[in-house]
Amino acid sequence: MKSFRPAIHRITRHLAAMAASLLLLAALPLSAQTDVAERRSAEFYNGDGNEVAMWRLFYRDGLSGTLVRQRNLPLDSLPDEINLRLLKDSATFCFPIKNIITSPYGWRERWQRPHRGVDILLRTGDPVRACFDGVVRIARPMGGYGNLVVLRHENGLETVYGHLSKIMVKPRQKVNAGDIIGLGGSTGRSTGPHLHFEVRFQYEPFDPEWILDFSNYTLRTRRLHLDKTYFGISRPKGNKHPIFKADKSIIKERPLRDKPREIYYETKRGDTLERIAMMHSTSVEQIKELNPKLRKIKPGLRIRVR
Ligand SMILES: [Zn+2]
Repeated sequence: MKSFRPAIHRITRHLAAMAASLLLLAALPLSAQTDVAERRSAEFYNGDGNEVAMWRLFYRDGLSGTLVRQRNLPLDSLPDEINLRLLKDSATFCFPIKNIITSPYGWRERWQRPHRGVDILLRTGDPVRACFDGVVRIARPMGGYGNLVVLRHENGLETVYGHLSKIMVKPRQKVNAGDIIGLGGSTGRSTGPHLHFEVRFQYEPFDPEWILDFSNYTLRTRRLHLDKTYFGISRPKGNKHPIFKADKSIIKERPLRDKPREIYYETKRGDTLERIAMMHSTSVEQIKELNPKLRKIKPGLRIRVR
């Protein structure tokens, strides 16, 4: 992984260019600004100028190492609808961890408070991977999040990974989709090992299941239409779930370069497929797929779990 710290003279050169483009942007309606931003970002990401990304247009404050969320988001300052490309050209994506969601995004009636991400089951020590290419913004322990990693992506989206047992990246480090950014755990406000995963735009979370389909591990859309009504969680009373607009393309994850090694398990008395799947952070379906000849579970069987 390469360092993301650019040379000072390059920053100065680009700051001058940015100042000029921001002046130009201020004169345009917001919808047009997004278009310009996309074009500018394509320019910035070519050649040696790759340190100036589109997110600089959305986050004037730069790459804050402490700000997890803004208390009063000026939603009015955002365009009504923003089109974001999730995957550009040859870019790829990766599920942070492949497992079941134990707690969805939304209002938690039991605790009377919002849950701003999804909780994904894991075992302590399981590798947690970067969802898209990006830059590490936060990598440190942070209150209820425990050991936290926040990545910022070129298109302005951010992904948030909480409760890690170990952080394996440094702030401002560049990461590629699929890179291991930490190990799963239960640090912070957590009742058991899981990954608290959020997707945000302008510090404001929306439901990660709008872009990631956890039932078959695909990306739901290549181009995300982000509507202002998607943000904010309130008590369900009178709160209609917004309709998600996505194109019909289903994009499959590309295989990882570091191929996962095969893992086997010897069955014991009282084992069930569900229990074995749970123990190995996988699903019954995946175990059946890996063991096509498997019929009945009895003690002493050697079955592949990964
Ligand atoms: Zn959570």
